[in-house]
Amino acid sequence: MAWAFVNKFAVDEILNLYVSLKPQIIDPKRNLEFLHAISTFTKASVGSAAVTTYYEVRQALGGFGYSYYSELHEMINNGDINTTWEGDNRVLLQQTARFLMKNCNRVATGKEVSTEHLGYFKAFNEDKAGMLAKVADIDFNAEDLGLSQVIQVYQYFAAKTAFRGMDHFTEALGAGKDMFEVYL
Ligand SMILES: Cc1cc2nc3c(=O)[nH]c(=O)nc-3n(C[C@H](O)[C@H](O)[C@H](O)COP(=O)(O)OP(=O)(O)OC[C@H]3O[C@@H](n4cnc5c(N)ncnc54)[C@H](O)[C@@H]3O)c2cc1C
Repeated sequence: MAWAFVNKFAVDEILNLYVSLKPQIIDPKRNLEFLHAISTFTKASVGSAAVTTYYEVRQALGGFGYSYYSELHEMINNGDINTTWEGDNRVLLQQTARFLMKNCNRVATGKEVSTEHLGYFKAFNEDKAGMLAKVADIDFNAEDLGLSQVIQVYQYFAAKTAFRGMDHFTEALGAGKDMFEVYL
């Protein structure tokens, strides 16, 4: 249920980003790809979380949650489609994954990332051990633990996961699998 609140902040932030990027949308070479990648992720994440949350609420209310009088049945029924409409969530997540792996490939072949928001991919590719050492040094119990340190941790694990995905992708293609099999 807490995830539903996290999503609320994420969606607000993306709406702000959309408003600030609107003037650039007429130039598709700029941050449009980035906006696409985070909106496909957010729709899939929020849509799936909504479905899970309805069921959690239903269970938290016990037998009453199942009862017609809780009025949850209508919300559950209406919410269920969030995994499918406006794009199947699995397919949308694949679009985000594709964007991230393309950027891994860009840095691995000496090119610039397509958005400054993925600058940490370059840092990871150049010195992953150094990045890990910085994360390992963070004291999570410190009273002055700041947002920038939390972001550092997320960036390390996000880059690690994306690069691992790209390696897996490259290996599978090298082993003769076709694109469809690799994405599955
Ligand atoms: C109530 C409702 C209202 C709608 N309103 C509109 C509307 O107003 N305008 C409009 O244009 N459309 C509308 N749609 C269509 C909607 O956008 C599509 O249903 C949605 O995009 C999913 O596409 P699909 O039904 O073809 O399912 P698919 O994309 O074919 O998905 C079916 C299954 O195949 C899996 N799958 C598909 N591709 C892959 C892949 N590459 N890798 C792995 N698994 C895969 C999916 O995970 C899913 O389990 C509406 C749909 C509904 C149900």
